[in-house]
Amino acid sequence: RQSLVERRFILHYQPQVDARGQLIGAEALVRWQHPTRGLVSPASFIPLAESSGLILHLGRLILHSACEQLVAWAQDPQLKQLTLAVNVSARQFHHPDFVADVCAALAESGADPRRLELELTESQLVEDVENLISKMSQLKAHGIHLALDDFGTGYSSLSYLKRLPLDQLKIDQSFVHDLLEQPSNAAIVRTILALGDNLGLSVTAEGVETQAQFEALQQMGCRRFQGYLFAKPGPASALAQWPATG
Ligand code: C2E
Ligand code: MG
Ligand code: MG
Repeated sequence: RQSLVERRFILHYQPQVDARGQLIGAEALVRWQHPTRGLVSPASFIPLAESSGLILHLGRLILHSACEQLVAWAQDPQLKQLTLAVNVSARQFHHPDFVADVCAALAESGADPRRLELELTESQLVEDVENLISKMSQLKAHGIHLALDDFGTGYSSLSYLKRLPLDQLKIDQSFVHDLLEQPSNAAIVRTILALGDNLGLSVTAEGVETQAQFEALQQMGCRRFQGYLFAKPGPASALAQWPATG
């Protein structure tokens, strides 16, 4: 609570690249600048923020900073085309004010909704389908893009998936990690790419760490990539040095 007041939560950005390795967007990843523990990873405080309800406040702060970053990029001819992906937690998404909160962040900052992408996870999509689709459609009507994060690790059924107004699937990094060692993972990656193709969704491979993985993914038809091979998440200033697709 104290850290929220003291604005100790900051966003790092991880580049997303195309097959030529050129910058097409970034994902915002929150970090906690803890007074004694240093930079704390979201994996260790997001679950706590969720269970305590603080995620609502934190989530709004994250959306606001992300939108401000989009506005800063819009001033730069090299960066104005970039999309920015923001992770949304289940509790935040299911809050009745969520759509209004996103719209407020966009309106107050002046950010272009078409550059904003919200990342949802499969587990948060299991509740009340009609309500879910209506909420997603409202966001889409504003021009916001929607991605399904960590795809393949949850329980979404395919008949369900085709009803959701999504734009993108993100292949979970666990499949990418053992892509070259485990034929079953390669088969899963191929299947997700084919599924994306058939449903008209773009597909991003997450957790690409080696050139060999990058090449194998390209051969399978993947066109969007994110991972340590290209860059680790870092402050916004680090992104400005990237060659971007014009
Ligand atoms: P995620 O959304 O799936 O984000 C990708 C995670 O993988 C990030 O960890 C990123 O640093 C890491 N990563 C990226 N490339 C590689 C790679 O090549 N190899 C490996 N081993 N890891 C890679 P991070 O930043 O620790 O975030 C962990 C999770 O915390 C995120 O997973 C997301 O679910 C959650 N999270 C992060 N920021 C936010 C946020 O602002 N709001 C919410 N609700 N959740 C967030
Ligand atoms: Mg994500
Ligand atoms: Mg992920």
